[in-house]
Formats: sequence, structure tokens, C-alpha cells
Amino acid sequence: MVAVVEATVVAVEKLSPSFVRITFAGCAGMRSGGYDQRIKILLARPGQDRPLLPEPTDWYGSWCAMPDDTRPVMRTFTIRSQDGDRIDIEFALHGDAGPASAWARAAQPGSVLGIIGPGVDDEVKALAYAPGEPPWHLFVGDDTAVPAIASILETLPADASAHVFLQVPDAGDVRELPCAGKTQVTWRIKSGLAEAVRAAELPVGEPYAFVAAESALVRDVKKHLCTDRGWDGKAHYFGGYWKAGQTE
Ligand SMILES: Cc1cc2nc3c(=O)[nH]c(=O)nc-3n(C[C@H](O)[C@H](O)[C@H](O)COP(=O)(O)OP(=O)(O)OC[C@H]3O[C@@H](n4cnc5c(N)ncnc54)[C@H](O)[C@@H]3O)c2cc1C
Repeated sequence: MVAVVEATVVAVEKLSPSFVRITFAGCAGMRSGGYDQRIKILLARPGQDRPLLPEPTDWYGSWCAMPDDTRPVMRTFTIRSQDGDRIDIEFALHGDAGPASAWARAAQPGSVLGIIGPGVDDEVKALAYAPGEPPWHLFVGDDTAVPAIASILETLPADASAHVFLQVPDAGDVRELPCAGKTQVTWRIKSGLAEAVRAAELPVGEPYAFVAAESALVRDVKKHLCTDRGWDGKAHYFGGYWKAGQTE
């Protein structure tokens, strides 16, 4: 069964202009599957000091059944790492128009939110990354997928070959990534991600591709990989992590 916990901020680290890494305590009932482990965060409504939490047995039904004015805002994020009852989430900051981004910018030790994620005995880990044994890996992501891709890169064997294309809002967001020996990372600032993939001289053979970013960008990259390069669209992961102009 999923775990639904109230998590308390114990540390906030501003990594770069657009990223903040927040450590939460209180997640003992949760066990991340690693990689791109997705979770839901629940934010208190204005006037509440903590979010209402849904029942774990039917968390979605229970969340939907809450009154409109008290139902917590729910957003999707990635567990960047877990250490016992503590988990880290990296938030890509994009201003205060988004409740999650605004919450993260203002978060400080003692702030609370709810998290819905895999319970300690839960077999269902909600992971999209499923590479098999490809000859090489391709990772393409914008700021929102940097946490997932960084987390996956940490698990690659030392002799794995990977090409990584990342787009971030600010030159100051470029960072060292935990990379296996044969990993090449290409950064783009603000734009140019799909163009960089299109122009790349990639190794021969079809890799496993993990592509996660703004939805239109993902469609663009998918079209290139499947049409121009002839890859099998069903053999890879293409995830729209957010949609320009729409709240989650
Ligand atoms: C499986 C999965 C895992 C994810 N993991 C992470 C993660 O670990 N870290 C992370 O930061 N995000 C992650 N995201 C993306 C995150 O869920 C969205 O960015 C979400 O919209 C943020 O919520 P919000 O309340 O800040 O903005 P919303 O209220 O959803 O949106 C408000 C406005 O902001 C725009 N917007 C949303 N995100 C961005 C952005 N990054 N840049 C510019 N404009 C934006 C929307 O289009 C909308 O116009 C993940 C998404 C998925 C599906």
C-alpha cells in the first residue's frame, strides 16, 4: 500500500539560481524505488498550517472527496534520494505562479507538506525508467527532469555509455553530475534542447532513451528520434513532466 506522510523540512540547500534541494524528515513509512521514483506532494491551502492528508487505502478517491476549499494542492515530483526516514526533493524554481514552486522558494526548516509515495512493502514503485540491457543510453530532460536523470545516472555501471542532453533556465544551473565513465553531457541554457539532440552525432544502434521535459518539447524530440532516426517509440520513455500554460 502507498504511504501518505506529513513530512517536515529539516534542511534547505539553494543549489543554483533555479534549483533548491529540500530534505524532509518523517518519511519512515516510505521506501523509494530509486531511479525516477515519482511521488505526489500535497500543499496546504491558504489559511491552513498543514495539508489535510488523504486515506492511504484509496488516496485518490479520498483526495477527490475532500471539500474544494480544504483539498490540498497536489503536484508530482521525484525522490532525489532517501536516507532512512529522510528524503530529498529537488525543486526547479519557476516563479511564484505555481504553488509548488512558490512553496519551495519560501520553505524553511519546520515547513510541512504531505507526500504520497511507495510504502515500505509496496511492490508498485511508479518508475518509468526500464532500460533492459541497451548498448547505450540517451537521456534528454529540462530542469524538471534533472533530479530524475541525476538519480538514474548514479546507478549506471562504470562501463555504461550514455549521452545526456539537459536544458536549464540559467547558466549558473549547470552542475557536475554523478556520471559513469563514458557519459557525455551537453547543456543548453533556456532553449535549444531539441536542436542539440537533432544535431548530435550519436553512437550506432538503438539505445534506451529516457526523455522527460515540457510536453511539446518531448513531442518534438520523440518525433525526431522515431521519424528521423527510426527508433521504436514504444521501446523508450517519453514523459511530459509539465505543460506550458497549464497547471498540473
Ligand atoms: C513524473 C514527474 C516527476 C517530476 N519531478 C519533478 C522534480 O523532481 N522537480 C521539479 O521541479 N519538477 C518535477 N516535475 C514537474 C512538476 O510536477 C511541474 O513543474 C509542476 O507543474 C510544478 O507545479 P507548480 O505548482 O510549481 O506549477 P503549476 O501550478 O503546475 O503551473 C503553474 C504555471 O507554471 C508553469 N510551469 C510549471 N513548471 C514549470 C517549469 N519548470 N518552468 C516554467 N514554467 C513551469 C505551468 O505551465 C503553468 O503555466 C515532475 C513531473 C512529473 C510528471
